[in-house]
Amino acid sequence: MGSAGDAGVCALWRWAEGPEERRLLELFSYGLMALGAVSSLLLRFIPMPYGRYSSRRFGWLLPARPAWVVQELPSLLVPLGLAVCGGAVAAARPNRVLLGCFLLHYAHRALIFPLLIREGKPTPFFTFVLALLFCAFNGYLQGRSLTTYATYPAGWLGGSRFITGFLGWLIGMAINIHSDHILRNLRKPGETGYKIPRGGMFEYVSGANFFGEILEWFGFALACCTIESFAFALCTLFILSSRARQHHKWYLEKFEDYPKDRKIVIPFLY
Ligand code: NDP
Repeated sequence: MGSAGDAGVCALWRWAEGPEERRLLELFSYGLMALGAVSSLLLRFIPMPYGRYSSRRFGWLLPARPAWVVQELPSLLVPLGLAVCGGAVAAARPNRVLLGCFLLHYAHRALIFPLLIREGKPTPFFTFVLALLFCAFNGYLQGRSLTTYATYPAGWLGGSRFITGFLGWLIGMAINIHSDHILRNLRKPGETGYKIPRGGMFEYVSGANFFGEILEWFGFALACCTIESFAFALCTLFILSSRARQHHKWYLEKFEDYPKDRKIVIPFLY
């Protein structure tokens, strides 16, 4: 199948390349920030309908594992396809490293995280479609930026912005994976209920996995220094801090002995 079709798709991407597409990516980035802000407002009234807030009101219920795989895959496949078609920008070392960070996160999120889920609640069709569209859109935004437009001066990988951002990305990802591991292990096989998470960053915040993910994408944004990566980090902050707030409130209502000094999502602050 192949090479002729691949060349066709790549030719299409090359045709689209230019100042107009660059401007479009910028507009999409402002759109992503606005989407995050509006979602955060809406989420004050309606909890994001999946996991513990899953409901038939939002469409057929899909099993959690395949839903996670399919909805997250575009964030892996779209940038990968763009990298395959990429030219000199995609081949530059900083771009390969930064795109590698993004792809590593989504290889884990789409291919490993779903297999580890224990008795996760089903995902409503509406939420599944929203997540799928978001991942396709953001996969294009980050992938296109890093394979076609973001250029870095010599020595970028040794500079303070990249190193600080990369460390934030790495530590954030480690916190995210470790916190999800803690949550998973709260359930014995066959159990579907909820317990108070303890240990790791859960000693400080209710949304430790979300804190890790927020830190990860702000680190990535600093390492990339692009408007596209900053918009993604901001959107993640809006959405995941809302989900963390809902979880925090839910825990306080559900468990009388829930630690009262635990913050919502940012240790010691919020
Ligand atoms: P949750 O914390 O809501 O749930 C994670 C998993 O742990 C689910 O399987 C859940 O089961 C289980 N779980 C959660 N709390 C408990 C508890 N107290 N006791 C027992 N089991 C529990 O996370 P999300 O599902 O919202 O997110 C999963 C991952 O995806 C996170 O790492 C998050 O950062 C990431 N994500 C990223 C987004 C982004 O914008 N970048 C957006 C959304 C998620 P159940 O399903 O039964 O509730």
